[in-house]
Amino acid sequence: MMQRRVLVLYAGGTVGMAPSDEGYRPMTGFAEVLRRQFAAGAGLPDWAVVEMAEPIDSANLRPAHWQAIAAELVKRWEAWDGFVVLHGTDTMAWTASALSFMLLGTDKPVILTGAQIPLAQARSDAPANLQGALALAADPRIREVALYFGGRLLRGNRSRKVHADRFAAFDSPNCAPLAEAGIGITVHHDRLLPPAARDFALPAFERAAVAVLTIHPGLSAHAVEALLGDPAVRGLVLCSYGVGNAPDADGELLTVLGAAIARGVVVVNITQCVTGRVAQGSYATGAALARVGVVAGGDLTLEAAFAKLHVLIARGLTAAETRAAFGRALCGESG
Ligand code: ASP
Repeated sequence: MMQRRVLVLYAGGTVGMAPSDEGYRPMTGFAEVLRRQFAAGAGLPDWAVVEMAEPIDSANLRPAHWQAIAAELVKRWEAWDGFVVLHGTDTMAWTASALSFMLLGTDKPVILTGAQIPLAQARSDAPANLQGALALAADPRIREVALYFGGRLLRGNRSRKVHADRFAAFDSPNCAPLAEAGIGITVHHDRLLPPAARDFALPAFERAAVAVLTIHPGLSAHAVEALLGDPAVRGLVLCSYGVGNAPDADGELLTVLGAAIARGVVVVNITQCVTGRVAQGSYATGAALARVGVVAGGDLTLEAAFAKLHVLIARGLTAAETRAAFGRALCGESG
């Protein structure tokens, strides 16, 4: 069998950082360091590495970076069998989600990974994460955007960063891992996405098109009105209680939400709970949201709901089209 070829794209993150007076910062020339450390032939696929023009600490990520990362992959799509994106852990789940909606129907593995300790430091988790990601990016049965970290492959748009300082920093609370690494790597083929028609879109993102609002005791209609008063906001992810509940005793709050929806803001409802899903009809407090036109977000993660709304809006869909598309699972993000 021909040796498979994997392209590594370094977008930034701890994996390639070096210490500075103010703490870790992305280093320049990380690609060269990587080439030296992981020479070809050591049981790895053939691979090469390219760097984004400006590798970032992913805390600085904006939606425009999603488009830039996707563009680097798409322009090299035909030349490689799979892709690894080295990314900071802070917003890796957000980027994995966004890439999944931009690269709908991907026919190749796109595996995001990074590290909690830089490659150049003692006890770094970068070698294990990178080697696992390279192996998985060479597997032709994987046709989706996924995240490999701490020995597990997770669906990208189901993943969340759940630990600030552990090596097993990620989980996908509503979706079983796609693969697990021990001495060998076990891929759960029955959990992988089936082949689908390619429908890539790399739209230009409006930085502030989507806002996030966490329902909390005492939340005022006034605060919500101020958030939704920004004309740039065209979508809102509402993080509600339990199975999708919000205070229905606050008529003003519901009026503000209803007015925003009436003027074309798409409001979606996800749960603050770590696992489980929104069912807006279970309680009167959830039914009230449905009545004013809030779209139930099922078991979507915050990151997936946010990225899905962003991509649908950036693709130029109307509010009605966005609402309809949001309700459909596009690439395994809900179930
Ligand atoms: N702040 C870093 C980043 O997200 C953290 C990491 O990579 O682990 O870029």
